Amino acid sequence: MEQRIDTQSGEETSAPAPFVWPPCQPAQVANEDIGRSQTARIKPSVPAIPDSENPLTCWLGQTREPLRQRLARAGLDLTQPAPYCPRCGVSISPGEVAEDDPDSGCHHCHQQNLPWDRFVRLGEYEDELRRVVLDIKFGGWRELGTEMGQLAARHLANRLRLAGLSHLPVILVPIPMHFVRRMTRGIDHTAVICRGMARELQASVIPALRSRAWRHTQLDVAASRREAHARASLAPGRWPGSSRLAVAVRNGGVVVVVDDVKTTGSTLAAAARIVRKTVRRETSRGYQTLMIWGLSLAVTQPGREG
Ligand SMILES: [Zn+2]
Repeated sequence: MEQRIDTQSGEETSAPAPFVWPPCQPAQVANEDIGRSQTARIKPSVPAIPDSENPLTCWLGQTREPLRQRLARAGLDLTQPAPYCPRCGVSISPGEVAEDDPDSGCHHCHQQNLPWDRFVRLGEYEDELRRVVLDIKFGGWRELGTEMGQLAARHLANRLRLAGLSHLPVILVPIPMHFVRRMTRGIDHTAVICRGMARELQASVIPALRSRAWRHTQLDVAASRREAHARASLAPGRWPGSSRLAVAVRNGGVVVVVDDVKTTGSTLAAAARIVRKTVRRETSRGYQTLMIWGLSLAVTQPGREG
């Protein structure tokens, strides 16, 4: 402590120590007035705990490989999807569909009357993308679903910009899951994907559809009956879903019907038809522009439907 001489009394006095808060601040500890023994008590900063010894990893089971790492390991770049048909979503060779005439479609779909205006996808339903979709759907990995939704949203935003529709609001309509199946699986994966998309696009998610069937998935149904089954298993959503959809598109918008995988396209087609019919019925004064797009994370190539 610094010693000073009082000018009036001539006695030595101690200068008050400067006020420092909190009392164990490094600045105070490092003060030269503090002895070497006290300085030695300062603990060095704690080194980073390696993942293998991290209690979060050991006790809470955080062993999932990050999505970015998974995709990089598989050589998948979902930020720039491989060429696909903007009408039906199947993989095509570069230049098969003219960029200035996307409505002409590819050799798979050019003669089909599709109920959506455009289709957006991230990749083929195989290898790592298939495993990611299955992890979301059956593993219940919500975070993975949200991340995939955000990736899909960025790609959708690009496609909307190319189509000159980026000024229109986006309304996301998830393919619904039946209540019983949702309870069994513990996750409504398409709703989770939509929430991730909505977060990225500042879009609204409107449950404009409901599921009436829970016993069979499309793959359990014979190929010839899939379209009829899809129509029978979907219905317009209960109030206020349909009304909210009508209000949202009254001033124009792009309605995007979202599913995890497009296999035969029967479910998405049935959903798009119901959405169009619902908007026409609910919007008595008409609407300015109604675009219906389809979107799935992955698409099964024709002939590999299983
Ligand atoms: Zn096509």
